[in-house]
Amino acid sequence: MNNVHKNSGVLYVVATPIGNLQDISARALGVLRTVTLIAAEDTRHSKKLLAHYGIGTPLLAVHEHNERAITGQLLRRLASGEDIALVADAGTPLISDPGFYLVRAARQENLRVVPVPGPAAVIAALSVAGLPSDRFMFEGFLPSKQAARRQRLQCLATATATLVFYESSHRICDSLRDMADCLGGARAATVARELTKTFETIMHDSLDGLVDRVAADADQQKGEFVVLVQGAPARERSAIDEATVRMLEVLLSELPLKQAAGLAAKITGLSKNALYEQGLKIKDSQ
Ligand code: SAM
Repeated sequence: MNNVHKNSGVLYVVATPIGNLQDISARALGVLRTVTLIAAEDTRHSKKLLAHYGIGTPLLAVHEHNERAITGQLLRRLASGEDIALVADAGTPLISDPGFYLVRAARQENLRVVPVPGPAAVIAALSVAGLPSDRFMFEGFLPSKQAARRQRLQCLATATATLVFYESSHRICDSLRDMADCLGGARAATVARELTKTFETIMHDSLDGLVDRVAADADQQKGEFVVLVQGAPARERSAIDEATVRMLEVLLSELPLKQAAGLAAKITGLSKNALYEQGLKIKDSQ
């Protein structure tokens, strides 16, 4: 905290519910009540939450179209000692929501930025999906155009961590189909829909199974979605396929065995010892 301005205010980044209005912390309510201003993505939306809790703090719209323009004004107010809260329409600001530009600018000005944690759809979904949660990759929204979407999915096809996507009702069917095509239809996956709301549904199946089940039920295509897909199986560290043998042969034609095996291990992620053994076999047969 060395360089932080002493008399400046605090920018609180406050998580709000993703559906059920009860999902807000006592601390978040306290902050929203006591700051001088709430910077909100959509003020009409946030007014409902504030009215529910009898909070009358003034609101200012800060969304992706005006965030840059309005940041200067907010920084000045913070520097003059005002405390400001940043909220999104739902969940945690900056998680597939505006706020990055403001938070970065506040940090660059050495202003205090304080998190008030709470709901985020990615974490809520992961906590109930029944998929490995020790490592996950949050991908947010996939591109809306199919070619770009499939290209992104191809890049993720070998990732071993659980993949987490946000999706809207417009694209849920198309995206699930592309995931099945690009990641493999047999992979285990979960569709978490309308979390914490009246029509909350959590479906677990193979990707192929989910494609069919969601396509067959118009109700399952409505609302907000988190899609989670089990990661690719970790590559067997000693499984040396034909392409790897060919690569080793090429490397061995230019390099000593130890160096060739080391390089092949770096490229493939396979065990150096296994590649050394394979290299010996190649040399013996030559
Ligand atoms: N900032 C939010 C968060 O912390 O999760 C995310 C905002 S992003 C603009 C909106 C997307 O989040 C939705 O399209 C959906 O993919 C996901 N989402 C938000 N609320 C959800 C809910 N209640 N159930 C399922 N997905 C939800």
